This record gives sequence, C-alpha cells and structure tokens, in this order.
Amino acid sequence: MLPRREVFPHVIEMNHQARRRLGCSVYLIYDGPEWMLIDIGYEDTVAEIIDMIRQMDFQLTHCKYLVATHADVDHVQGMKQAQELLPKAVTVAHPEAAELMKSAERIMTFAEISAQGISIDLPAIETGLTINEGDTLTVGDLTIDVWNTPGHTSSQLAFRMGDLLFSGDNVFRDGCVGNIDAHHGSDIADFIASLERIRDSDVKWLLPSHGPVFANDRAFMQKVIDRLEQYQHMADFGTCAVDWPLLDEWEDELATGQGPTE
Ligand SMILES: [Zn+2]
Repeated sequence: MLPRREVFPHVIEMNHQARRRLGCSVYLIYDGPEWMLIDIGYEDTVAEIIDMIRQMDFQLTHCKYLVATHADVDHVQGMKQAQELLPKAVTVAHPEAAELMKSAERIMTFAEISAQGISIDLPAIETGLTINEGDTLTVGDLTIDVWNTPGHTSSQLAFRMGDLLFSGDNVFRDGCVGNIDAHHGSDIADFIASLERIRDSDVKWLLPSHGPVFANDRAFMQKVIDRLEQYQHMADFGTCAVDWPLLDEWEDELATGQGPTE
C-alpha cells in the first residue's frame, strides 16, 4: 500500500503523489470511501495514475466523478481510458467542453496545430453530466462549488472547496496564464474578469492544472491582470486584442503629412 501524500486535507495531486512530473495536475478529492478526479491528462499516464490510486487503497468502483476542467487534449486525452477503468464514475464537463469532447474536435482542443506539425490522437469522449457556474458537486460530506472562469477558453471551469480553488489554466505560480489563442476561443477581456474574480475572492490557495500549488496573493494577481490589460492593445495578440493604438496615431500622422521623426 502507498501512503497518501495529501497536499491539503482530502486532496491528493498525482504528480505530487508520484514525486515526479507525469503531465497536467490530476487532483483526487476524497471523503470517506468516495472520491473524484479533476482532469486525467494524456493516455500514456492513465494506467500508472489509476494503479497508484488503487495502491493508495481507493476502490475504483467508488470514483464518483471524472471531471474535465476544459477540453484541451493535454487534460482529457486519457478520459476514455479512465472511463473504462472507472466504470461507475460519471464524466463531468462544461456544456461547451462536452461538445468538443463528444465530437473529438481538433482545433479548439489543441490536438491539431498543423503549422507546427502537431497532431495528437483525441478519442471521442461522452460526458454523463454537464455543469456550469453555480452548480455544486459533492463527494462524501464535501461540497465543491463550480465556477465558470472563461478566458483561456469559454468553457474553463474552476472548483472551489473551502479556501481552495482548483483553478484550471487561469494562472500559474510564475504568473503565466493559460495559452491565449484565437483558434482556441480565448478572450482576453473575459480572462481579466476571471482573474479579477480570483483576486477578489477570499480563496487562500490556488491549485492550478499545471505546476505547483501557490497562494492567492492580491499583488501577484494584480501584476498578472495588468499584463493582460496591455495584451488588449497589442498587435502581438492579433484578433484577441481589442484595438491597436499605433494605427490611430498613424492615421493622425498621415492626415497631417508627417514624415519620419527622430
Ligand atoms: Zn492546460
């Protein structure tokens, strides 16, 4: 039997449990015999993760939910395999993520980035329950509040349990945020609103979908938000930006016939 290496009471993170990097964060939440998983990652680590869970003395038939924070391939590719190993678990996702998973959509899930030669298998995944803002999930006596935190993608979910927030791809410990990409359905204004919501909440700890757990610090979050505010006016972000002030300046200069200035 493996000792359970909790990151917080009732919470195990499988990379932390394994003491090495397996892929995206895979959170196991449990109370009594009942448990659930938030994300599963790529197929090639599913067997190892489920085996560790078994060795920690969890009954596979007591897994209540298999939750997807969103439909990105690095979070859900292994769902189908996990469903086979955890037949009693209900697969749970945001309605839009459920659609992408069902149709094995390839662009919005980052399975296919043809310009970079990225083409990753993504099986079609059926969802048993769709959830959205305001819904709750229960595991044993624990209650988990569902937040829709759009920005990285419109279907991005986060999950609040007491002073913990399973924060998905909203923000990471180094201040990076989830990939902003027009083809992924990213929206910078929505992203800022989601980060402000996290900043203004009394959540103490952020449990992200990539990298280590960290504290929800107001000054840190503000710095991230300020950076994204800039993105809204930068050509770097293409159609995700709302405007490009340089072109307005240029228009004024064109009208007055202004040439190059030092
Ligand atoms: Zn991700």
